[in-house]
Amino acid sequence: MDLEELLKKFREYSKQDTTVLEYAWNYSSEAHRAQKRASGEKYFMHCAAVTEILLDYKMDLETVAAGLLHDVLEDTAIPHETFRKEFGEEIYTLVAGVTKIETLKFSSRDEAQAENWRKMILATAKDIRVIVIKLADRLHNMRTLNFLTREKQLEISHETISLYAPLAQRLGIFQLKSELEDLSFKYLHPDEYQSLLAKAQLRYAKREKLLEDFKTELEKHLAGAQIPHRVLSRAKNLYSIYRKMQRQQKPFEEIQDSLGVRIITDTVINCYALLGTVHSVFKPVAGSFTDYIAVPKMNLYQSLHTSVMAASGEIIEIQVRTEEMHRTSEYGIAAHWRYKLGEKGADRHLDEKLNWLRQWIEWLQDISSPREFIESFKTDLELDQIFIFTPKGEVKPLPVDATPLDFAYAIHSDVGDTCIGAKVNNKMVRLDQPLKSGDICEIITRKNSSPKKDWLVLVKTAGARSHIRKHLREHGQPEE
Ligand code: MN
Repeated sequence: MDLEELLKKFREYSKQDTTVLEYAWNYSSEAHRAQKRASGEKYFMHCAAVTEILLDYKMDLETVAAGLLHDVLEDTAIPHETFRKEFGEEIYTLVAGVTKIETLKFSSRDEAQAENWRKMILATAKDIRVIVIKLADRLHNMRTLNFLTREKQLEISHETISLYAPLAQRLGIFQLKSELEDLSFKYLHPDEYQSLLAKAQLRYAKREKLLEDFKTELEKHLAGAQIPHRVLSRAKNLYSIYRKMQRQQKPFEEIQDSLGVRIITDTVINCYALLGTVHSVFKPVAGSFTDYIAVPKMNLYQSLHTSVMAASGEIIEIQVRTEEMHRTSEYGIAAHWRYKLGEKGADRHLDEKLNWLRQWIEWLQDISSPREFIESFKTDLELDQIFIFTPKGEVKPLPVDATPLDFAYAIHSDVGDTCIGAKVNNKMVRLDQPLKSGDICEIITRKNSSPKKDWLVLVKTAGARSHIRKHLREHGQPEE
């Protein structure tokens, strides 16, 4: 990508003045002039490539500029003050945030990762765009990993798959998450990767026909309905198939991996209308319907999910969503940054949606050991969520296997702290009984009651654990 292409791409979605981009391009290219990458190409090519990824996500002016400049503070002798004066506070803060993550080095590998990550998350409490830049940086490094030594490849792939991919997932940037996973998989298990790739390609070629039949059948029933829509087949994530094989201890041939189809339309009403049509044509599989439009996932994901039986007997998994929901599902939080451009009201909306992230960061500040941080990070990043209702019908998303105590703390820390019992679907249960999606849970509290030390092993969420610890500490009962 050259400067002309960059400006063209940016202007496709933004009317902002691009002077700073031209300046940043020349500044960064000059600053990295003497440096080369392991591939032998000019170092600045990496900065341009990272920026191109940010443009794909339609990021705002400051983020794009910061992408061009993201390695200037770390890899050149330019002092922070000079840089800040040159580009202003906002771009400086973004680049300094990315740099801080990269420059921290610790002796033990585990600790190093944990500490870097903690710093990174904390730094972004103010600005999540730092994470998006860092993810784009990691993606390009993964795409060019073949130029490094085998040892480095393994180290970087391991870090990517255990920390960066889950983070992308948590932020809902699924496209990036899948690519990070598949690239890491390729280096961590090269033989398995190659063999799976060959088998998968064969299987999906056969499925093209099935997809065509499905589309034709659907079109027939939609003719005249005036519902705008397009049907997409779902991109495959090799690593997720591999994980499924491992979990179920089965070879690829025995893995139930249904054909995935997305139907995209304009409005929420039309999502339900399309779903109705689909169900009237194809028999839905019992229990497969989930409404993530009415109850979105924590990472903002929305869609209607259902599975139907095709005429051939194959199961087809269908997701119905609007264009906006589609953008959110592919780009996650990154999709929302563009609404910042000129749309005042959109900011607050996003802010509210991101409350969970802020809350999460607050909990993390309470956790002192890096190992514990990694643990809670991984737990809270689990994809699978369950939805639990209060007796009044309020819904709280929780990780799988969460207990009534987690639920109590999810309502409010005071409710958690004074919890003495719980009813699930009107029956008394133990505080450590795992909850199931759809359960109605009522928490019984008693004034002046307080958390017990053994609760720490009963809870599954970092939030609950952190509140219990805090209470124990404040009341002179540290854990040890
Ligand atoms: Mn970089």
